[in-house]
Amino acid sequence: MIKVEHVTKNFGSLHAVKDVSLEVNQGEIVSLIGPSGSGKSTLLRCIHGLEKPDSGKIYINDEVMDPSDSKKYREQRNRMGFVFQHFNLFPNMTVLENCNLAQIQVGGKTKEEAEKTSMEYLKRVGLADKRDSYPNNLSGGQKQRVAIARALCMNPELMLFDEPTSALDPEMIKEVLEVMKDLGNQGMTMIVVTHEMGFARKVGNRVIFLDHGEIVEDSPSEEFFSHPQSERAKDFLSKVF
Ligand code: ADP
Ligand code: MG
Repeated sequence: MIKVEHVTKNFGSLHAVKDVSLEVNQGEIVSLIGPSGSGKSTLLRCIHGLEKPDSGKIYINDEVMDPSDSKKYREQRNRMGFVFQHFNLFPNMTVLENCNLAQIQVGGKTKEEAEKTSMEYLKRVGLADKRDSYPNNLSGGQKQRVAIARALCMNPELMLFDEPTSALDPEMIKEVLEVMKDLGNQGMTMIVVTHEMGFARKVGNRVIFLDHGEIVEDSPSEEFFSHPQSERAKDFLSKVF
């Protein structure tokens, strides 16, 4: 579904992502893990088109993503949902309005059509009763569940998560991981940057371990956690467990 081919991204002299290639198949749940500063967010943002790679190509369903073909590029980007660490909800809009917005502005739906879809996904994340609340009156876990529902309202083929639970109090992490697990069980393709090793091991199918902008390991989850191949992965795991 997604193919990343020799992608490099530099910030000045800093090599954030170095010649990364990977493929993600439909229905896979890939955990992107690695030390802080290893390039996980940059890689995810390159896939979503939030950062423009300096070189390399990204394909979605075998079609190259080319920013100069702006109409097609926008449509390709819309096939991916992105969930941020800090939710990025609009504070001056209700939960329902947050979910409706892109459906109306980008998807061209009527307000009624958008609302129907929004309520469907708000129900799925257990927040239908919060439709008229403002983000500031929600807990962190609730905000993130709204952000996930909002992304799902656009009917994405692929979901990208950048540390979706890192800004949450411990007691709220589980409710968000549960929603993500359900999504995976329903067959959603997902790339998840996470420090939740339990999630990566039990819910994820595959681990891609990055260090210094490079893919050091790319293995089935169970294999990665039980038999990491590289010293760098062994060292990382010894610090997180
Ligand atoms: P991770 O998500 O694994 O913690 P990042 O992808 O955020 O790592 O960052 C990789 C490297 O790129 C880091 O050294 C970071 O400081 C740098 N970096 C990330 N974004 C920017 C930016 N917009 N401008 C300059 N440097 C950046
Ligand atoms: Mg990051």
